Amino acid sequence: MSATLVAGEDLKRLVEELNFSEKVERSLRLIREAHEQYGDRLVVANSLGKDSCAVWDLVKRVSPEIRGFIVTTRFKPAETKQFMRAEVARYPELKIFSNNDDSISDRLYVTDPDGCCDLLKVEPTRQAIKEMGVDCWVTGLLCTEGRTRTDYQEIEERDTGLIKLNPILIWHEREVWQYLAIRQVPVNALYAEGYRSLGCAPCSRITSGGDERAGRWIGTSKCGGECGIHTRPLKIA
Ligand code: SF4
Repeated sequence: MSATLVAGEDLKRLVEELNFSEKVERSLRLIREAHEQYGDRLVVANSLGKDSCAVWDLVKRVSPEIRGFIVTTRFKPAETKQFMRAEVARYPELKIFSNNDDSISDRLYVTDPDGCCDLLKVEPTRQAIKEMGVDCWVTGLLCTEGRTRTDYQEIEERDTGLIKLNPILIWHEREVWQYLAIRQVPVNALYAEGYRSLGCAPCSRITSGGDERAGRWIGTSKCGGECGIHTRPLKIA
């Protein structure tokens, strides 16, 4: 793929030195080049958060045909479920995946949040990647949004044979909101209540100051951390 691959200090420099318009152009170029290479095997992981909304709008500018998947859980807030229904109605190429195994305890997020995320989020993501024939998945990761998000690259291959494209990695939180406002992209109603990062209801809190992800998994060892889809192997043999 393109010669725009950078990491580490170069990535941090780009975060501060590129202006908003240059970042948008860079993101579009990354998506366009990946789409030329992977075609229908390029698929967006749409979390329904604001970053995914920006990425989804960017990919639609490159090609309206690009598909996506949403992983949902029994614990998603009502507002997120409502937003999901609206997005899927508008974009039927968004496919929903979830783990509906009734034997999984409703209290697992208290006793074992890592295990809960593994079953309810990572497993359906693996399923989506397999069922949709994905060779390149596209995410809305920002390298500025929390302590666990500083070590990524715009194009990665963490799983052999599965490329991961992070086209807005170098955007700031405010630039995401800037993009969404300019493009008039709808977002989850929960942002109006003060949330900065959205996940399952029991594991997301409104916080002020600090990292964007500081309100996630408060009171557990996962606080401000990850559900696992960006850290665990995803390719099923
Ligand atoms: S975010 Fe919380 S409720 Fe949702 S899957 Fe992870 S631990 Fe379970």
